[in-house]
Amino acid sequence: MDQQKPRVGISSCLLGEKVRYDGGHKLDHYLHDILGAFVTWVPVCPEVECGLPIPREAMRLVGSPTNPRLLTSKTEIDHTEQMQAWATKRVGELEKEDLCGFVFRAGSPSSGMRGVKVYNNNGVIKQGVGMFAAAVMAHFPLLPVEDDGRLNDACLRENFIERLFVYKRWQNFVKNDGSLGGLVGFHTEHKLLLMAHEQKTLTMLGKLVAGAKKGKKEKLFSEYLTNLMAALLSHASAKKNRNVLQHAMGYFKEVLSADEKKELEEVIVHYSQGLIPLIVPITLLRHYIRKYKEPYLQMQHYLHPHPLELMLRNHV
Ligand code: SF4
Repeated sequence: MDQQKPRVGISSCLLGEKVRYDGGHKLDHYLHDILGAFVTWVPVCPEVECGLPIPREAMRLVGSPTNPRLLTSKTEIDHTEQMQAWATKRVGELEKEDLCGFVFRAGSPSSGMRGVKVYNNNGVIKQGVGMFAAAVMAHFPLLPVEDDGRLNDACLRENFIERLFVYKRWQNFVKNDGSLGGLVGFHTEHKLLLMAHEQKTLTMLGKLVAGAKKGKKEKLFSEYLTNLMAALLSHASAKKNRNVLQHAMGYFKEVLSADEKKELEEVIVHYSQGLIPLIVPITLLRHYIRKYKEPYLQMQHYLHPHPLELMLRNHV
């Protein structure tokens, strides 16, 4: 398996595969052409893979939003057991895929991850979760997940891609190192990133790592990753980013000239006022990091959102 590219599950129709009930697809050009250059997609079409034909009758969720049934829309044939039995088997198989995330097709009764229509006697409630998506999220609770609709939002897209690459680095760390010393290194490299999301988790994880004892690694790693992924879900607002940038600027107190300091301060203020994107102060900081060889900042993933071509930090 490719150690470098994150492997990401995806609803097959989003890659242009003609697997929908009407024989069509839902090709998403951003996912296929742009993000697709930096990840290895693992496509899954629950309805076809569980044995339904193409074309087929459309389906919908019916009954309770928390425990709905999957029925064909007109003839009301119940495919719940068929889908659930297949989904249980498929999520087990996905364990071998080393997934770093999953992109679901929004609104689908099989693949939608939130707000899917559920039909019952009270009308239609948009509170359901597609049956396969529910199985994936229950089986891999820490996996970064999003749907194609929400990924049109620049902030949500940035957040998802960031989580995906953090997850990949975690996988690499566990596979290639997995030591307590390695965890200290991993945590150090993600400090500014965490600070931009949730300062209190940064402090808490710092204490967790510092107090780590040999012999309890599995529990420690699980606690670390659970808190890390939860914190990254919290929105990195302009105010939080400004705090991180000012914190980073503090590392150059002694070396920047008065003019350089003024310029950097101005750029940070302009970012916080929404006049320029985050990539501008980050680029200037990176310039000073290179110029003054600042070792701690050099290793911070916050300042090196990759891959560059995805233009992270350009739209937030
Ligand atoms: S939404 Fe899911 S079940 Fe429907 S066609 Fe796409 S991949 Fe298949």
